[in-house]
Amino acid sequence: MNYPSIARLSILGQSLEKRNIYALKISDHPGQREDEPRLALLGCHHAREWISVEVPLQIAAYLLKNYARDERIKTIVDSSEIWLVPLINPDGLDYSIINYRLWRKNRRLNLDGSFGVDLNRNYSFAWGIDDSGSSPHPASETYRGRQPFSEPETRAIRDLFQQVNFSAAISYHSFSASILYPWSYADLPAEQEPLFQQLAADMARLMSEVNGRIYYTGRAASSLYLTNGDFIDWVYAFFNIPAFTIELPPVDLQEGGFFNSEQDIQSLTAENLPAVIYLLEWAISTDSNQDKSLKLERKNQLEKAPGNGLKNKRK
Ligand SMILES: [Zn+2]
Repeated sequence: MNYPSIARLSILGQSLEKRNIYALKISDHPGQREDEPRLALLGCHHAREWISVEVPLQIAAYLLKNYARDERIKTIVDSSEIWLVPLINPDGLDYSIINYRLWRKNRRLNLDGSFGVDLNRNYSFAWGIDDSGSSPHPASETYRGRQPFSEPETRAIRDLFQQVNFSAAISYHSFSASILYPWSYADLPAEQEPLFQQLAADMARLMSEVNGRIYYTGRAASSLYLTNGDFIDWVYAFFNIPAFTIELPPVDLQEGGFFNSEQDIQSLTAENLPAVIYLLEWAISTDSNQDKSLKLERKNQLEKAPGNGLKNKRK
């Protein structure tokens, strides 16, 4: 399947084991930089969460296939950019497929001889602020790495966000059925929590209409457990945009945990699609309501945003 007029594939960087980390941009005039709102959809920070690769990939396929025959999809694609990075952790996924199904981290050889950094603890905001949200021990499942952005996989995402001005982001994980928003590092309300709450509730309502499944919505820190140095906190802290973790079903270990059935791919794509469309339409309408000076202000902020280092701009 090729859609050169509305899609462009690029390589963001390479993993430790030199696998490409791909980004697919979907928009009209994909080779041009247009002044349009942008949504990022990410998958597979964690290797064993295979479904988090499939759902964004199938959402991309849906948008491409339906562009020519669905007026609503055409309008969205024409007036925004959708950036998909469905496989942030290709080395870990490969290891999970071939060697050990429950592998979670990347494949960094640590100084103590253990392997792996938890990529969703390696971003720079509130990195390592305590040891309950991440671990300083290399052998731990939630090892945060030696420093923020120590890993080429998270650096690829950092560089993308510094180059492209996003309006919102979703990072897919599994398992449970939930839509989580900042903060993750501490059980504190984000300044824009009312907006996040509303967006998450609207997405969950639209999703429940597809298969009847209810996604829990809430602040990440009070929903799952504390995580520091994660993607959504970093995105919100440095770019001031809504960022969600969507934990895909099944809901618990008894229903399969990290193991999804083949049929889940279609049913979970179907129920996640309305959330993506909703967030895109929200970004498009918000963007057109913003006057140019606000946009310029955002652009300047973006150019100044360090996105790395230990400058924790806590809110
Ligand atoms: Zn995960």
